[in-house]
Amino acid sequence: MKLNTIAALCLFAANASAATIADDKFRQLEEMLPTPTTIRTASGAPGHAYWQQRADYKIRAALDETARSVTGAGTVTYYNNSPDTLSYLWVQLDQNMFRADSDNRTVTTQPSRDAWANAKGEADGLKFDAMRFMLESRTFDGGVTIDSITAGGRPLKHTINRTMMRIDLDQPLKPGQRFAFDVSWRFKIPETTVLGRRMGFERFKDGNDIFEIAQWFPRMAAYYDTYGWQNKQYLGSGEFTLEFGDYDVALTVPADHIVAATGELQNAGAVLTAAQADRLAQARKATKPVLIVTQAEAEAAEKARSTATRTWHFKAKNVRDFAFASSRKFIWDAQGYKKDSTDTLAMSFYPKEANPLWGQYSTQAVVHTIEQYNKYSLDYPYPVAISVNGPVGGMEYPMLSFNGRRPTKDEKTGALTYSKATKYGLISVIIHEVGHNYFPMIVNSDERQWTWMDEGLNSFLQYLAEQAWEENYPSNRGVPDNITGYMRSSNQQPIMTNGESVTQVGPNAYGKPATALNVLRETVLGRELFDFAFREYAQRWKFKRPTPADLFRTMEDASGTDLDWFWRGWFYTTDAVDVSVDGITEVRIGSKDPEVEQAYKKAQRAAEPVSVTAQRNKGMARRVDAHPELKDFYNANDDFTVTNKARNQAAEDVAGLEDWQKALLKQGKHLYLVDFSNKGGLVSPLILEIQLASGKKTIQRIPAEIWRTSSSKITKLLVLDEPMTGLVQDPFLETADIDTSNNGWPRKATPSRVELFKSRPAGGDDMMKDYATPLKPPAKDGK
Ligand SMILES: [Zn+2]
Repeated sequence: MKLNTIAALCLFAANASAATIADDKFRQLEEMLPTPTTIRTASGAPGHAYWQQRADYKIRAALDETARSVTGAGTVTYYNNSPDTLSYLWVQLDQNMFRADSDNRTVTTQPSRDAWANAKGEADGLKFDAMRFMLESRTFDGGVTIDSITAGGRPLKHTINRTMMRIDLDQPLKPGQRFAFDVSWRFKIPETTVLGRRMGFERFKDGNDIFEIAQWFPRMAAYYDTYGWQNKQYLGSGEFTLEFGDYDVALTVPADHIVAATGELQNAGAVLTAAQADRLAQARKATKPVLIVTQAEAEAAEKARSTATRTWHFKAKNVRDFAFASSRKFIWDAQGYKKDSTDTLAMSFYPKEANPLWGQYSTQAVVHTIEQYNKYSLDYPYPVAISVNGPVGGMEYPMLSFNGRRPTKDEKTGALTYSKATKYGLISVIIHEVGHNYFPMIVNSDERQWTWMDEGLNSFLQYLAEQAWEENYPSNRGVPDNITGYMRSSNQQPIMTNGESVTQVGPNAYGKPATALNVLRETVLGRELFDFAFREYAQRWKFKRPTPADLFRTMEDASGTDLDWFWRGWFYTTDAVDVSVDGITEVRIGSKDPEVEQAYKKAQRAAEPVSVTAQRNKGMARRVDAHPELKDFYNANDDFTVTNKARNQAAEDVAGLEDWQKALLKQGKHLYLVDFSNKGGLVSPLILEIQLASGKKTIQRIPAEIWRTSSSKITKLLVLDEPMTGLVQDPFLETADIDTSNNGWPRKATPSRVELFKSRPAGGDDMMKDYATPLKPPAKDGK
């Protein structure tokens, strides 16, 4: 015995030494998160020494419709609110991504050879537009030309490094000082459907264009406490890290163009007709969208094509960027929305090709987004919220979003119609892009560093807003069961991967973090704790720049819950939830009543399998039957006969018990030991649906801390009032468990369906017919 014990101890010790700190799924994140400072506190809030830079812009720009170019000039005023002295400033020149020699083009790789041709050499791989992009991106005369850059009339020394420009200051900029410089520039607008990214123009067959203009002026790069200058090159994926400031922008465009822009229109009287100005005033109080520019007015402008110009003047306060859209094709509708501190005008701009669909859904979706996002984060603070239809599929700017879905023409009737996917795709993309006003346009995370910080949080709120649009809304992201395919796949990267290095951006930066937050809300914290904490994060960081640690810490701080295991598993690893119910043992507590106990043992014995020999020997002639005199006392009693000696002993035992001990013997509970194993690595709360003999089902919710001492295997005791007939872990598919076939006890067959096919006759393709087909006359041009 003693030897055995020692052997077991040695074995145990060997196991313990094999465990590493990496195995502790509940180890605190301190060593991975940045050290708290007086700028960013350990509670996740901005500290008393928090600072951020500021940049104001005054811009005068012109859109040349024929040359398809933008020319601009302006003054940038940069405020150094940091405690540091700066000897140079970094400015983003994102248009340089469109230069033929840009990093964006040169570092692009092909996903695989298979995309070019399949194994049989059939060219299913290269699309016409991909080929066009390859050739055009080598010849397009893109990129920004800086014509002048001066301060106080004197030229400033500057160096352009691809998509970044460094301005060297004559005098270092001290803390608390500001620096103003004048800059003028121009660039050719890329055609979005050919070279497109987030901005550009779209050509219509009627000879008119829609211009969606963004990343169009020299923008101050961000300088902040944890990163210094965020001057990482724009390779095409990592978006924009910018400072807040006030904008005063005058845009000169063809006189019959309608302009949608970040900010409030300052000169409606000069650019709108009296009727249009009137309708705009009505829209403010309307309960449904009001047309400011009708389809008939837009169609008339399309034909007239004015060659004069007109200047639209906008102002925007406390925004981190400015974008605009311009076209004579625009129909324009608007509806006011006022609640709490929000007082805004939801608006949509779209061509006739976007109807029917846009007139019915766009502005309504904008209002819905604000109503829903306000509930969960912060009151929308800007005077306008705009959705524009044009060539860009979906892209966000302050107060302004570009959304691409449109109806299609019915082949037979020529009527414009739309699919279910187009309808819900449009509502979803509008919710998403308008939702980006909150993250990252107001809660201003570093997009170039972390795509997920705005896309993930925004996709999560998008899911909540979609579900508030209509019952059973077909949401793609946020539903736990929808991410399991990705989380089961190989070649994943942790969510905490730089935006330019992520290979599967959709599931990595949108779907998985959105799902994680949904799991956190519904399963880990519950709605009350989560909603308070998430709103607290938005409130703390609105108009400021949070880092991932600020989100992680705030959610813990405001909910009173240690979530380090959650962030570690979901954000820093590619582990997945896969909990298996390995086995269940029924535990019976002895009654101390020999009649009950012996009857139980007898029943147990009877339930044991009968050996095949015993089965085949049944009815066999035996000696004791032929010679009954061989039978004695032991033949008359089996092992389960209750003796008086046993009865006396039991009575004596029970008499010696205290009352509470006697009561425990009669409580009648049913005890089960359930073995669980964690096969996916990601620790998860357990949700147990317990099926009882009476047919009732009960749910037990167990926090993830059940895994804290052993993250791979645990045993849980269930104490039930009646016998258990079955158990299902995660019955509502809320944990993103990637293999549900091991979630139930007893195991159930996985439902599946297979179609039966006739075997296809060999040699079905009639080659001879191909040779006999007559040649058609060539199609005329313009068909
Ligand atoms: Zn997005």
